[in-house]
Amino acid sequence: MQKQIKLINRPQGTPTNNDFEIVNLPIGEATEGEVLLRTLYISVDPYLRGRMNDTKSYIPPFKLNEAISSGVVAQVVESKSLLFNKGDVVLGSLPWQEYSVANEKAVRLIDHSIAPASAYLSVLGMTGLTAYFGLLDIGKPKEGETVVVSGAAGAVGSIVGQIAKIKGAHVVGIAGSEEKVKFLIDELGFDAAINYKTQDVAKALSEACPNGIDVYFENVGGEISDAVFPLLNNFARIPVCGAISSYNNEQADVGPRVQGHLIKTSSLMQGFTVGHYSSRFSDGAKDLAIWLKEGKLKYEETITEGFEHTIDAFLDLFQGSNLGKALVKVAEIETETSAVE
Ligand code: NDP
Repeated sequence: MQKQIKLINRPQGTPTNNDFEIVNLPIGEATEGEVLLRTLYISVDPYLRGRMNDTKSYIPPFKLNEAISSGVVAQVVESKSLLFNKGDVVLGSLPWQEYSVANEKAVRLIDHSIAPASAYLSVLGMTGLTAYFGLLDIGKPKEGETVVVSGAAGAVGSIVGQIAKIKGAHVVGIAGSEEKVKFLIDELGFDAAINYKTQDVAKALSEACPNGIDVYFENVGGEISDAVFPLLNNFARIPVCGAISSYNNEQADVGPRVQGHLIKTSSLMQGFTVGHYSSRFSDGAKDLAIWLKEGKLKYEETITEGFEHTIDAFLDLFQGSNLGKALVKVAEIETETSAVE
């Protein structure tokens, strides 16, 4: 038997443990063209909150009383596919359960000799690619420009700021604790960082951005963003990646209107989802891997141990408990040596 996590209620406001259920079910069996996988790492992501609502979006909602799914790194336990061998480590969008049976086309092999397997869910995976394409394709930072990123110490934001530094920008991060502010400046080389929970964001931003703001990478929305708009320079670019501050709102978010700021500065504000860049993922992953190897890019992961703590790790995203990418470690990779032991 194995464990699975189901969504049993559509959360009202902030999700709670009561919206989920951990159930036991048999481990399946692979048939022709399938693999049986043991889950190693589960990615917990803010966007999953949107899929818990029964509303139209760019990705269908989760069904009630069915397993939640997200990015998962897993190891092949049994292969009935010519494409995979027992022991291979793969990546796919898989259910939150300890074992799963997947079609050979639903997963892809990862090379965990280049980077740890978990990195394929963080810097070399969906969140690293979101930072890469959102910043470079829409933000287009130029040397000497000022880039501001919110959610700066998280999975996407921490990579955005570092890529902006690689491109020669003056980089300012906004995050929710002193530890995060210190991490951004001391560890990641941001030029300045602001704690939105203790500082006056508008005042701190005007001090940290004496030449105005050319690129605002939007991860959070709400009042933090309201403080950014008055500082936009002419022809500023705003990649709208996320708006986590409103994900648990029960009413539509209303705030200062942005049109005036966009018109006055001829700025571009563009939403995006990383999936639209899938045909270019290998190019993005290649650049990210090169920067990692050259030591220009660092990444942090907050790893929660144990499948039964997956729901807590997800809920913690809304409390800001994570530094870098939030992941759950379910099992160790089994090597031939560990299997013999
Ligand atoms: P993070 O690793 O950044 O984790 C979420 C962080 O958001 C928390 O650590 C917390 O940090 C911050 N946060 C939580 N609640 C609030 C709030 N009310 N106001 C401000 N900040 C808050 O997550 P990701 O890097 O995975 O995602 C970042 C954003 O990017 C999200 O909005 C997500 O939905 C979006 N996204 C979009 C994608 C796309 O394709 N468009 C793909 C991936 C992510 P703190 O301590 O600083 O508050």
